[in-house]
Amino acid sequence: MNLTEEKVCELCERKGVETTVHHLVPKEEGGRNMATVNLCIPCHRQIHALYSNRDLGLRLNTLEKLKKDEKISRYLHWIKKQNNENIIRIKNSRERRMKK
Ligand SMILES: [Zn+2]
Ligand SMILES: [Zn+2]
Repeated sequence: MNLTEEKVCELCERKGVETTVHHLVPKEEGGRNMATVNLCIPCHRQIHALYSNRDLGLRLNTLEKLKKDEKISRYLHWIKKQNNENIIRIKNSRERRMKK
């Protein structure tokens, strides 16, 4: 695990999030070899909850189109306000003295 590397979600642009690969044109719609984007888990889940694979492949097959879609832009507005405040990062900030 590389903890120094900060992953960025290409949709909400939050940093330090866990990202997953999203096929802009779903594989089921023939997008196997087409562009992919890295999305954080909430964004990825949201996209698939809002749209069918067919919708994604036909209408929302670029990041720009996704961002402009009304439902997503409303969601983005909300998640950006959440920032990282509600997301607990697994980090042990306490320094313990170890005796050997
Ligand atoms: Zn995101
Ligand atoms: Zn996806």
